[in-house]
Amino acid sequence: MSAPEIRVFNTMQQTKVPLSPITPGKLGIYVCGPTVYSFVHLGNARTFTSFDTIVRYLRFRGFEVRYVRNYTDVDDKIIKAAHDANEDPIALAARFIREFEADAQALHLLPPDVAPKVSETIPEIIAIIERLIDRGFAYASGGDVYFEVRRYPAYLKLSKKRLDDFVSGAGERELLLENKRDPLDFALWKAAKPGEPSWASPWGEGRPGWHIECSAMSAKYLGETFDLHGGGLDLIFPHHDNEIAQSEAASGKTLCNCWLHGGFLDLEGAKMSKSLGNVVRLRDALAQVDAEALRYFFLTTHYRQALSFSDKQLADAETRMEYFYETLKKVDERLEGKDFGPGPVHQDPGRFLRELDAAMADDFNFPGALGALAGLFNEMNQLTDKPPVKDKASVGRTLVALREVARQASRALGLFEDVPARWLSRRRDRQVTRYGIDPQQVEAAIAARHAARAEKTPEGFKAADQIRADLKAQRVEIMDTPQGTTWKVSAEPAS
Ligand code: AMP
Ligand code: ZN
Repeated sequence: MSAPEIRVFNTMQQTKVPLSPITPGKLGIYVCGPTVYSFVHLGNARTFTSFDTIVRYLRFRGFEVRYVRNYTDVDDKIIKAAHDANEDPIALAARFIREFEADAQALHLLPPDVAPKVSETIPEIIAIIERLIDRGFAYASGGDVYFEVRRYPAYLKLSKKRLDDFVSGAGERELLLENKRDPLDFALWKAAKPGEPSWASPWGEGRPGWHIECSAMSAKYLGETFDLHGGGLDLIFPHHDNEIAQSEAASGKTLCNCWLHGGFLDLEGAKMSKSLGNVVRLRDALAQVDAEALRYFFLTTHYRQALSFSDKQLADAETRMEYFYETLKKVDERLEGKDFGPGPVHQDPGRFLRELDAAMADDFNFPGALGALAGLFNEMNQLTDKPPVKDKASVGRTLVALREVARQASRALGLFEDVPARWLSRRRDRQVTRYGIDPQQVEAAIAARHAARAEKTPEGFKAADQIRADLKAQRVEIMDTPQGTTWKVSAEPAS
């Protein structure tokens, strides 16, 4: 069986195109990273998780992926936040880079291969700007440098907007010229203002505009033309249109072959954003819910579609993860210490992985991949709970094969990477806290139930059943297993 062809929706062409690496077997991907003036919120986390999953899947498919995600550590918003906090802007940005790294690790995001910062890319930024001036696409004016959009006929080719619509649609205030020749020209370099971080340049002390950093960093770490460029939908215009204008005008080459844009995470019907104030910080969410449950929640919707956040959906995702881990634990226990030797297996355990692969190859269809997982785990449960009576060895071999499929799926999606018992015990701790359960009281009730059952009298059994029912009313579910009685907390109260 050959692997399915990977097709990707390219924002530039507005259609799915075959993924065709510049160098066979290798892929370079650039993802616009966070502006580090505050803590990341779940909207940012969704976009970064989407690209993390895409990178994992492409590596799973055998590509050698070079993943670059930058830090915007020089920016108007950072300067304003630093001013408000009476802190040095570069120091404030460095602080939030550390916070971001802690959050990214807590969310199990793969560290990018390179995570460049604007403050460490100034010479490359200046070099591109000089080239743009030399080639007649940019001009210096009053210590600033602007990109002259009307000199670049392909401007806005990504967003498909039209320059003239802007002019007629813009209010007078927006069209203020400042040092520009045309109101739509955008800044590549800004003359220093007091209290702002600045660097020496051929145009005097100053700092880069927002967009030029990504042109400089992507060229530095991936080359003038690379395979994939990603970011949230809000970056298509102006950020990515401007990146394209800068890079392509400077090099005369295509910046990147395929553009991927992630949909928004919404809260109460509006895009989660710091400016609207409707944000949930990633770290606050991770204090409540497991990181893989959050990832699962993000994967329930296609990465290009909008996703609405709700506590209920997040809690449901954690319950789903609990089901996966319980299944894996059960299968591990069933298979422990057994060797079934070679021989036939049931049905075709590999079909679930092929289903997952086909979904992901089709423009990274996350919900389709989760559908394949549903089939896989259902099959594992069937075979452990109600094994066909005949041929125990072939059932065992099938479970071994299905468990291996689950491991491969884990690698492709970044789910259930933990040890089942450890994950389940952390989940129980969270539930215990959430519902105010007293574990010692539960253990005491379980011991009392044992004692009652040991009497082996009708009264004893009745008392034992009553204890079980009482616990259930407090969401505590007890399970008698060959290893003894264990308990878990149900998300739903007993009806
Ligand atoms: P920023 O730090 O604002 O530059 O954003 C970092 C990344 O998060 C960018 O790719 C944005 O497009 C993305 N982003 C911001 N808000 C949301 C949201 N509500 N949903 C999804 N992605 C978002
Ligand atoms: Zn960018």
